[in-house]
Amino acid sequence: MRLVLVGPPGAGKGTQAQFLAAHYSIPHISTGDIFRANLKAGTPLGVQAQSFMDRGELVADSVTNEMVKDRLTHDDVANGFILDGFPRNVAQAEVLRAILAEKDTPLNAVLEFSLANEEIVTRLSARRTCKDCFQPSVGVDKCPSCGGDVYQREDDKAEVITRRLEVYQDQTAPIISFYRNEGLLITVSALGKVEDITALAISALNRVAQ
Ligand code: ADP
Ligand code: ZN
Repeated sequence: MRLVLVGPPGAGKGTQAQFLAAHYSIPHISTGDIFRANLKAGTPLGVQAQSFMDRGELVADSVTNEMVKDRLTHDDVANGFILDGFPRNVAQAEVLRAILAEKDTPLNAVLEFSLANEEIVTRLSARRTCKDCFQPSVGVDKCPSCGGDVYQREDDKAEVITRRLEVYQDQTAPIISFYRNEGLLITVSALGKVEDITALAISALNRVAQ
């Protein structure tokens, strides 16, 4: 299963990606997590990405595309992958299509999680993130997954959330029609219980892709 997840910030892409990755036994590739891991390790890539991330802007396509291209050469993607946070604009979607066409392994589906703006702001303001494994959580001091300390991401602060929503509308939302035209789009509501959304997503995916 080669899958892309799309949806506004806070739609729960990361959470759903983890469950879907476990279900299909394929890696969850989050460009945001890769950037955050690089930031934490102080790599040149992390340093380059930080100011864009903190402002809620997209990191340059040249940087992001190279990073994803490299990630997709790893052996663990042989049976598929879940891309979470990439592509984030039409240019990136075209690059991804080209990378996959070269290997003759096109996408099977693109799963869109839809969510209203008010709900996005509420969710993101309450969200905390694990310093160690980047797992999001709400209302706890320690990460439910690994016990690490949690913090509020710079880009989950109110001023930056507004900008991220604009960036999503202007730059990312156009990939939804791009993928609809390719016949790949599946839309699922991001409202409801996590496990119900996962179940809906899996049944929709099983209908279109094997
Ligand atoms: P979200 O909670 O919005 O899904 P992510 O963790 O996916 O957040 O991304 C956080 C930040 O990382 C983005 O705001 C952006 O600065 C950077 N980033 C992640 N993926 C991409 C991408 N595909 N292209 C450019 N920048 C990206
Ligand atoms: Zn953790």
